[in-house]
Amino acid sequence: MTDAAVGAGHSGSAGHATAAPVVQLPPVVATKHRAAVAALRESYAALPSGAPVRLAKRTSNLFRFREPVPRAPGWRAARRARSTAGLDASAFTRVLHVDPAARAAVVGGMTTYEDLADATLRHGLMPLVVPQLKTITLGGAVTGLGIESTSLRSGLPHESVTSMEILTGDGRVVTATAEGEHAELFRGFPNSYGTLGYALSLTIELEPVAPYVHLRHFAFTTPEACMEAIAQAAGEGSLHGHRADFIDGTAFGLDEIHLTVGAFSEVAPWRSDYTGQHIYYQSVRGPREDFLTIRDYLWRWDTDWFWCSRPFGVQHPLIRRVWPRRYRRSDVYRSLVAFDRRHGLSDRLNVNRGRPAREAVIQDVEIPVDRSAAFLRFFAAEVGMSPVWLCPLRLRSDSPWPLYPLQPGEVYVNFGFWGTVPLPPGSADGYHNRLVEAQVAALGGHKGLYSTSFYSEEEFWAAYNGPAYARLKNAYDPAGRLSGLYEKCVRGR
Ligand SMILES: Cc1cc2nc3c(=O)[nH]c(=O)nc-3n(C[C@H](O)[C@H](O)[C@H](O)COP(=O)(O)OP(=O)(O)OC[C@H]3O[C@@H](n4cnc5c(N)ncnc54)[C@H](O)[C@@H]3O)c2cc1C
Repeated sequence: MTDAAVGAGHSGSAGHATAAPVVQLPPVVATKHRAAVAALRESYAALPSGAPVRLAKRTSNLFRFREPVPRAPGWRAARRARSTAGLDASAFTRVLHVDPAARAAVVGGMTTYEDLADATLRHGLMPLVVPQLKTITLGGAVTGLGIESTSLRSGLPHESVTSMEILTGDGRVVTATAEGEHAELFRGFPNSYGTLGYALSLTIELEPVAPYVHLRHFAFTTPEACMEAIAQAAGEGSLHGHRADFIDGTAFGLDEIHLTVGAFSEVAPWRSDYTGQHIYYQSVRGPREDFLTIRDYLWRWDTDWFWCSRPFGVQHPLIRRVWPRRYRRSDVYRSLVAFDRRHGLSDRLNVNRGRPAREAVIQDVEIPVDRSAAFLRFFAAEVGMSPVWLCPLRLRSDSPWPLYPLQPGEVYVNFGFWGTVPLPPGSADGYHNRLVEAQVAALGGHKGLYSTSFYSEEEFWAAYNGPAYARLKNAYDPAGRLSGLYEKCVRGR
């Protein structure tokens, strides 16, 4: 990063005319970072041209797994042939500097939110949106979109980025801000999934926190009543007098939906702990009031990967007691799932037991709030998986982000569902996912691309702004060294 580029530019986020915070890196940090950028650029240039490139990272929260290579003669060679050149990103995994006065931080692109939140909480600050899983990285959440319970108030993680230093597909290192030469890249980077370039460092805004979060859980017996309450909270910033600094929800069924509204609090009469024997998602069913430290609140969903730790038995009190605390984390469960997928273990077990094949339906979708009840009813009837996570959001920006065109001012509800369901007899893998894709389109919604997708190329580019993407790809990766967005997100290359 050039020194002048650190924190340069204006907030592309809120749409108001406030200047972005300017953050000076300490000289030693700046020198070290410049050397790391130069080294990465050299390694990129040294990769064989024509060979596909991938980011070599220790963690991932993607849910697109490659088909296992069958262990027939020559399988090792087949596996080698499809492996891609890895770009070592380990020099970009740290927070470079937190500036409490400017309420901003300069952060390596592959820094996990766990490290980022720890670094900022030390100063009584946090990023405006902290995705729920500890190993989601800032670069991953910006290029792949993230969301959390502050998203109704503060939009999506990329909307509080003021400057990004990007290694582009054509091997340049550029600084993209809301204005200036690379403004189009700045706006088009969210939802590009590393197909235009890699964010090496990002300057982000921070906000002050209180030590605790005071939670109130509100129960609804119909989706319509719940969506009305979300619309009300969006209008008033509170629900039944409880300030909505944070808001998300859990649907256990159409007649049991809980919205959880959190307010920053300086005091806590008691503090719950869901990293031990108690499980957070079960707590939303009651009692109706709760207190957590801000750190425990940020990671409330990580300990049990929302509820997805259930298949490993960790929610059973006896197993939970002996399962080491340090392994009650989303990245541990994800590694177990990845191992299972790589080796096709569950699939083989199903076949051996004569059970129907199952389809993974792991998606996050956003639906306008006035059509969200209809989506939940469709989902219960056609997919029938529970619980479902609900998270209201509204763009912070007053203009859309081209590759994920949510409408400014519109309130959406994100629905997250992560599990498997049996396939009906005679139907093939993708059956439920296609139903979801069609329903999302019919209701004027959007679907995140971190997991599997089944769109035709035509449908895909209609939903994700093909012309804008083509312009950016041509400007920043004309030789196509990085995969294209459709190839990566739909064809899994
Ligand atoms: C069960 C489940 C629940 C989820 N729930 C949530 C949720 O509640 N909230 C939420 O916000 N998200 C959620 N996600 C999605 C998650 O945020 C995205 O998958 C995100 O992209 C993961 O970021 P990562 O840092 O782990 O990136 P990775 O998984 O490592 O990579 C994601 C993609 O981004 C690219 N990439 C990574 N770093 C960079 C970079 N620095 N520059 C450019 N490209 C880069 C990679 O090439 C890859 O294509 C969930 C995912 C799953 C599987």
